[in-house]
Parts: sequence; structure tokens; C-alpha cells
Amino acid sequence: MGRAFDYVIVGGGVAAGYAAHEFVKRGVSHGELCIISEESVAPYERPALSKGYLLPKDPVRLPSFHCCVGTNEENLTPNWYKEHGIELILNTQVKSADVKSKTLLTSTGETISYKILIVATGARPLKLEETGVSGSDAANVCYLRDLADAERLVNVMQSSSGGNAIVIGGGYIGMECAASLVINKLKVTMVFPGAHCMATLFTPKIASYYEEFYESKGVKFIKGTVLTSFDFSTDGKVTAVNLSDGSKLPADMVVIGIGIHPNTSLFEGQLTLEKEGIKVNGRMQSSNTSIYAVGDVAEFPVKIFGETGRLKHVDCARKSARHAVAAIMEPEKTGEFDYLPFFYSKVFTLSWQFYGENVGEVVHFGDFSGKTFGAYWIHNGQLVGSFLEGGTKEQYEAIAQATRLKPTIKDLTKLKRQGLGFALSVSRKPPPSKPSNVGGSGQVPDKKPIYGWCATAGVILAVAIAAFAYWYGRTEGGENIVFDSIARLKNLRNFIQ
Ligand SMILES: Cc1cc2nc3c(=O)[nH]c(=O)nc-3n(C[C@H](O)[C@H](O)[C@H](O)COP(=O)(O)OP(=O)(O)OC[C@H]3O[C@@H](n4cnc5c(N)ncnc54)[C@H](O)[C@@H]3O)c2cc1C
Repeated sequence: MGRAFDYVIVGGGVAAGYAAHEFVKRGVSHGELCIISEESVAPYERPALSKGYLLPKDPVRLPSFHCCVGTNEENLTPNWYKEHGIELILNTQVKSADVKSKTLLTSTGETISYKILIVATGARPLKLEETGVSGSDAANVCYLRDLADAERLVNVMQSSSGGNAIVIGGGYIGMECAASLVINKLKVTMVFPGAHCMATLFTPKIASYYEEFYESKGVKFIKGTVLTSFDFSTDGKVTAVNLSDGSKLPADMVVIGIGIHPNTSLFEGQLTLEKEGIKVNGRMQSSNTSIYAVGDVAEFPVKIFGETGRLKHVDCARKSARHAVAAIMEPEKTGEFDYLPFFYSKVFTLSWQFYGENVGEVVHFGDFSGKTFGAYWIHNGQLVGSFLEGGTKEQYEAIAQATRLKPTIKDLTKLKRQGLGFALSVSRKPPPSKPSNVGGSGQVPDKKPIYGWCATAGVILAVAIAAFAYWYGRTEGGENIVFDSIARLKNLRNFIQ
């Protein structure tokens, strides 16, 4: 038994959702596109899982954060796929792929064939066992990658309220989960081997700002050490963590965020892999011309790096997916993926964005004892990376644009003095003209083409706000209903993007 499609996407996460949206925008016909996902729900905005999903009060739940709400576009509910004739095969793992016969074998025993395949299998969390520690299966040990993990984390968090939570890892997942655990009234200790949190991105000065902020919320940091083993109760729950510095910490729950590994195993030996990812060209096309790879799994040429990179962040998943679909549907009009790396995080009341590459000399600017500060990275005399905490929309757009333009920097002292003003002045200069390029966007060059949908989205948002205000007024009453409703909507958006 088998079915055949023109286009198949394996994986049903962020990149799959945005690819489907782009296919529809470019006129895919009913019955041409199929998505196969081992998850039980339609593609959703994964960042919500460590933010709004973990809130103790009014947490976000599906269907509110399906793709593409993260970019203020349509919410692609399961019905949307049905309406557009897209076959969404859920709860189904692709067990093997044969790139010669262009077929996939699924966990239900079905063979699905494709003309063009998009690999959007993302990544999986590194397990403790891969570092020589056992205990991942304990009922109070949590990872966070998908909806099932998030549901489990919520349950464990609720049953451990007031207790001790140990977070192993000081990266993205560790930092965002630690903040959520605090908000859920757990006593949190973060343990990681480095000298400071977010070691691959933050400078020591930036890290110390966030660490002090976390400490002010009650989080303890134990640095320069790693987990070596757990103590267990008779019913198999972890009761304490043992660290390489010899210390033992009592634990009611443990969250593990020690890194991820791209899901490439289906294609090992069949496609060229590089630095653990599937190697693709600037059109997101792999070593097999019928197969494209996007999102966390794709190792692609990153212009600003001058080499290939695998960017495990949501903006890249969205844009690389759109770019691949453009290259598939309109090859003659689609250039190379010209992507400006963009990462962000939102924890507590904090919010930062980073653009570009963090290499070379660092110039910090702004008020590190206040709310808005940042850093520039200067490499070979050019601005190559920018970080900003607490910025406005205009300021974030300015650092994005300045980084994309890579201005020459002669005087670091002057740059420090100018601070954010430098990015603002550079970004106000007219940008150099550039060929149209759907997915190859930092935020700023995207602005002109998206005026149309911005206007539409604005109207939709206004109607939604009015409807929400009306509903909220009827259900909760009170003054300033409209403003409160707008604030709530903004808050919701903050926690799902
Ligand atoms: C909790 C969390 C918070 C995050 N927060 C941020 C953030 O604040 N900012 C940011 O920039 N990035 C963030 N990220 C990273 C971002 O979500 C990822 O970069 C993005 O989801 C990658 O998209 P993707 O489609 O490549 O992979 P995914 O979204 O992981 O999707 C992969 C999909 O493929 C499925 N799959 C895998 N193998 C198979 C198979 N063999 N058969 C069928 N299906 C399969 C998976 O089940 C999954 O549905 C976060 C990630 C997590 C986990």
C-alpha cells in the first residue's frame, strides 16, 4: 500500500508549518503536498513551550500557537491543512528513506513516494546517557523539545511546587526553564560546566547581568561542574543530584538542557552530511537534487560567516523553509539564501535579540545597571554582530540593519560612546538595492515586501482586539477593558513567539 505526492515534508515542526504556508501562497494544488510528523498535533511555534506554555496562570495552549502566529500571520490549525488539500499525517514516524527510489517507509507500514522531499526533522535533546549518566527515565526528570515533553514538565512542576528544581545546563533551554520554574514557585539551582550562562553567545559581562537578575529572583548558580549521578527513592524518583565537585543537591525535580542533536539518521549514507547536519546549497538543496533540508537539520552557507553553519533557531527554521519552497516552486526567481543569523529570548521581564556573528572584539554599550544595554562584535574592522537587551522595535530593527550592512569600524572608543546611536544612524541611511529573495532575510530587508500582509494583519489584529475586548468586557467587566485587552493580546504574543 502506498501513496504518491509531488511534495513531501518529513517532520511536522516549525519549518514544516512555514513551508506549508509558503507552498499555499505559491499556489500548490490540492493533493500535491503531504506532511508526515511523529507528533500528534499540527505544526506549532515550538518556542512557546518554554515560555507561555509553562506559565502558572493563563498558560497558552493549542490551537493558539500553531504556525504561523509567531510572525503574526495565519494560525494554521488542522482545518487549514484540510481546506488547502494538504495531507497531514500525524502520529507517524518515518522509519526509513530510500533516496534512489524516492520513497519513505512509515511506522504504519505505508510507503509514501515523492518527487521532491523537504527534510524538516529538526533535532532531539541530548540524553544524559550520552554523557555517561543514567536516569533519564525517572518520573521527575524532564527534557523539553515537544508538546508531550512540555505537558510532562507542567505536571512534574505542579506536583513539585515549593520544592527544589535542579536545572542541568546553562544554555537556552536551561535559562528559559529556570525562569519558568521560578515563576511556578520552585527553588531553582542551575548547574553547568562553563564559567557563565549562555557561554556560546554571551560575553562574561552580558552573562553577569542575567545571572544577577536570576539571582534576584532566587535562582542559585553552581558553575564549573557537571552532573555525575542521581540518588533515587525506592519508587524510582530522583531525590538528589551528585556533582563532579563532590556536592549533593536535594531534588524534587530535574530539568535537563544539555544540547541537541540534529535528526539526520534517515539520510546517513545517502546524503552528504557536514558538521552533523545535512549539507545544502544556498537553495537549501542537498547532495540529492530532489531533496531539500531546512531548519535545525540543515547545514547551509551563511554569508556573514563565510562558511556553512547550522542555526538552531526559530527564525532560521521559518525563513529557510520559505526559501526552500521558493526555490522549488519558482527556481528561476529564487537566489541564494542570504540569511542574517537572528536569535532571541524572553525570560521574566527581559527580552534580548542578537544578529550576526559573535566573533572578534566586543564593544559593550548602554546602561548595564538599567534596562537597555548591548554589545557589538567587530571582526576584521567590520561590525559583524549586535546584541541588545530591552530595546524597542525600532532599536532592534536598527541593530539588525546595521549588522547586515557590516559597516567599517575604525574607532572602538567612539563606537562605545555612540552605543545604540551608531546602529540607529547607520540604519537610517538608505539600504543598498538587493535582488528579491523570499527567505533570505534578516528582518529589515523583509520590510518592504511585507507591507501588504502587515496591513492585512493589522486589520485582522484590530478586529481580533475588538472582538476580544467585547468578549472580555462581557465575561469579566471592569474599566479600561480595551486597553487591558490589548495588553493581554500583546502579552500572549510575547509568550508564543
Ligand atoms: C522549548 C524550546 C524553546 C525554544 N525557544 C526558542 C527561542 O526563544 N528563540 C529561538 O530562536 N529558537 C527557539 N527554539 C528553537 C526553535 O524552536 C527551533 O530552532 C525550531 O523549532 C526548528 O524548527 P524545525 O522545524 O527545524 O524543527 P522542529 O520544530 O523540532 O520540528 C521537527 C519535527 O520533525 C519531527 N520528526 C523528526 N523525525 C521524524 C521522523 N523520522 N518522522 C516523522 N517526524 C519526525 C519532530 O517530531 C518534529 O515535529 C526553541 C526550541 C525549544 C525546544
